[in-house]
Amino acid sequence: MSEVVEQLRQVLPPEALVTDPDRMESYRYDRAMFCPAGMPLAVVLARETAHVQAAVRIAAEAGVPIVPQGARSGLSGAANALDGCIVISLEKMDKILAIEPVDRYVVTQPGVYNAVLSRAVAEHGLFYPPDPSSWEFCSIGGNLSTNSGGLCCVKYGVTTDYVLGLEVVLADGRILRTGRKTVKGVAGYDLAKLIVGSEGTLGIITEATLALRPAAAKPRTMAALFADGVEAGNAILEIIRSGVSLSLLEIMDRTTIQAVNKYKRMDLPEEAGAMLIAQSDAGGEAGAADVATVAKLCRDNGALECIEAEDDAEGELLLEGRRVALTALEELGTTMIDDVAVPRSRLAEFIGRLEQLSAELDITIGVLGHAGDGNMHPTVVFDQTDPDQAKRAQEAFDRVMEIGLELGGTITGEHGVGVLKRAWLAEEVGPVSLDVHRAIKNALDPKNLLNPGKIVAE
Ligand SMILES: Cc1cc2nc3c(=O)[nH]c(=O)nc-3n(C[C@H](O)[C@H](O)[C@H](O)COP(=O)(O)OP(=O)(O)OC[C@H]3O[C@@H](n4cnc5c(N)ncnc54)[C@H](O)[C@@H]3O)c2cc1C
Repeated sequence: MSEVVEQLRQVLPPEALVTDPDRMESYRYDRAMFCPAGMPLAVVLARETAHVQAAVRIAAEAGVPIVPQGARSGLSGAANALDGCIVISLEKMDKILAIEPVDRYVVTQPGVYNAVLSRAVAEHGLFYPPDPSSWEFCSIGGNLSTNSGGLCCVKYGVTTDYVLGLEVVLADGRILRTGRKTVKGVAGYDLAKLIVGSEGTLGIITEATLALRPAAAKPRTMAALFADGVEAGNAILEIIRSGVSLSLLEIMDRTTIQAVNKYKRMDLPEEAGAMLIAQSDAGGEAGAADVATVAKLCRDNGALECIEAEDDAEGELLLEGRRVALTALEELGTTMIDDVAVPRSRLAEFIGRLEQLSAELDITIGVLGHAGDGNMHPTVVFDQTDPDQAKRAQEAFDRVMEIGLELGGTITGEHGVGVLKRAWLAEEVGPVSLDVHRAIKNALDPKNLLNPGKIVAE
């Protein structure tokens, strides 16, 4: 194995290779709880595609597994190291290469953080919509590899909807350039979209061409307070049925509101059982009309109070509360974050079942999520030092997925399968789909070296 390290040393500049165990420690994990992680043989901090290619070739020759990593903000263990693997971190490939206002695309390296890219294109009057709550600390490469969603996906879709083209280092070290820079293009299989969401198991993304939209108008923001989550769920149903076009529709329950207040010293209303936050970026009178419609629908469906943000700063503060919600819940104890999406027509029922589950197992479940697209993050909070609570927490985590599937949903709306949910994949997709997964993996990575054991159990 020291031979592999020696070979890496010969082809990489010194700053691109880490073998010191203390430094490698921080490259072992992403942010998921309870996922195993090994100790890498080496960490490659690639600065350019050639570094990735050289490391992959050495790994392929020696039969050493490779784990690609972005910013390690993932919540499924997908970026966790394996014992004796080579971690290839893309975080230093952090340059935006071109912004094209007329053709409306950006060409970027994968290590650029989502928020950095969003702000850079905004300076050109352009908009990159996928906006995970983690946008300040997750990379575009990670977003592509998990097909990230976010807060404004209810109107604008998810990462895959913005992918035009990719440069990908394949398992044998060849470079695949796939996709287009044009608005349309149907030449061959859509390989770029095959790579999207593949969690580093089919190739390593070293460059991406992403579609942009013209900047949206400044959003108008409102919040509605409800006695409980089910009432909020019913209001969501009516909002969607009405056809009003919102750019954001999020939910937080009382547990989450209290956690955010404690974490951020905010003053969100703790008397409410649930709070909806809605935004319209339609602009001018249209935006005002959207917000008024939502307020009316909320009141008609039992809202205790509707509050419209007085200015952009107040709107941004409400959103900031939602963005930090998961981190705030983490401060309350050990957390297990689910990521179930259900058809929106079943959302109220889902929230009701979560409340019942929490009571039945006597365990705290913070309910929050992207209500407008039915993607919820029920977060089990518990004391890990109490074995009985830990057992009930695990049961709650599994039952949330069970309920989601029962309601016609999916085990993961945006965080991915990784290690955390690989045992559940078969439940959702069935044996034929699993066979197709394996056939694709085998075609692109016959030696099973790229992030082995992630998504599909070996
Ligand atoms: C507080 C918090 C809030 C979050 N909110 C959201 C949210 O709203 N929406 C959402 O979708 N996610 C959310 N996430 C999850 C996470 O931020 C996303 O999954 C994100 O896309 C991961 O990006 P990353 O750069 O951290 O990737 P990593 O965690 O480093 O890696 C994720 C996966 O991508 C692979 N990978 C990374 N880069 C590459 C590459 N260049 N080529 C090939 N494979 C690669 C890794 O192998 C791994 O499988 C949240 C996480 C936290 C901690």
